[in-house]
Amino acid sequence: MDSTQKISHLALDIGGTLIKLVYFSANGDYSEESRNGCSVVHGKLCFAKFETRKIDDCLEFIRFNILHHSGVQHPNGAAHDKLYVKATGGGAFKFADLFKEKLGILFDKEDEMHSLVGGVNFLLKTVPREAFTYLDGQKEFVEIDHNDLYPYLLVNIGSGVSMIKVDGDGKYERISGTSLGGGTFLGLGKLLTKCKSFDELLELSHHGNNRVIDMLVGDIYGGTDYSKIGLSSTAIASSFGKAISDGKELEDYQPEDVARSLLRMISNNIGQIAYLNALRFGLKRIFFGGFFIRGLEYTMDTISVAVHFWSRGEAKAMFLRHEGFLGALGAFTSYNN
Ligand code: ADP
Repeated sequence: MDSTQKISHLALDIGGTLIKLVYFSANGDYSEESRNGCSVVHGKLCFAKFETRKIDDCLEFIRFNILHHSGVQHPNGAAHDKLYVKATGGGAFKFADLFKEKLGILFDKEDEMHSLVGGVNFLLKTVPREAFTYLDGQKEFVEIDHNDLYPYLLVNIGSGVSMIKVDGDGKYERISGTSLGGGTFLGLGKLLTKCKSFDELLELSHHGNNRVIDMLVGDIYGGTDYSKIGLSSTAIASSFGKAISDGKELEDYQPEDVARSLLRMISNNIGQIAYLNALRFGLKRIFFGGFFIRGLEYTMDTISVAVHFWSRGEAKAMFLRHEGFLGALGAFTSYNN
């Protein structure tokens, strides 16, 4: 990432569920992994994440690594005695006073959508092998032609979901979204399975079988396809639909199966809404980002299948290696502006 070598700053994206940090460390092989188990180092550009509800851990991490000293004077010359760091996401507003009080830094706020789009454009133009497709267990990196990048649809799956049509650098429009996102998966998952964390919920879903709870076309049609309208017997007719007829209580289902159905339901729904919006604007390429994806094969496969199915193979779902840090990266690169 040569273009970032000159930058030595900290940028934050404070979302509803997670705080994302991007910062430059002069010492490339330095890792905080052992200290808090949540940061990764890519060369000299470092990435870390914290749960927003545990914001004190984030403040401590910044203080311990003296990242707050890497702030800059505000370009307008305001508040000369204070350092500014770039911050985006709703928490840049909500927690500004906390960061000022605890670390003595001020936020130079960057718009959330602007940062997201800036982060994706930066990655697609600068980082080789950033985008890839995932279908039927096959991961394939996609060569991005910089002259033929726009327009595309960006689907960011965070706590909620934003769908943004991107037409160029700084040229974008939020065209849709849905409140059924990563927060819904985690929130409902915690209520239904009693698991404590996202990782635990993912692990559960890994071992589950959604057919135990989902009502399939075959369940309605006595095991056969509804071929006249192109629905196979294994297509989901109704997510969680079996639960109404089985006479079972929640406790009668395995939490693994509940987690699997939930993951399938949320991923499918997002894939379908994304495709419908791509269709609305004639967009062929859809990039999916946000921490909900977490590089999980099952999630990516479900989204890809939904896009493939609804578009009859016309549109392509693509994923990004730095999926969770798009906004933070956008804020980070805005130090250059
Ligand atoms: P936001 O900016 O709204 O916080 P993110 O892109 O950070 O959005 O994604 C948040 C979502 O990512 C959560 O709702 C959850 O589904 C998922 N997620 C992935 N890893 C974690 C984790 N370690 N803790 C909590 N949620 C996680």
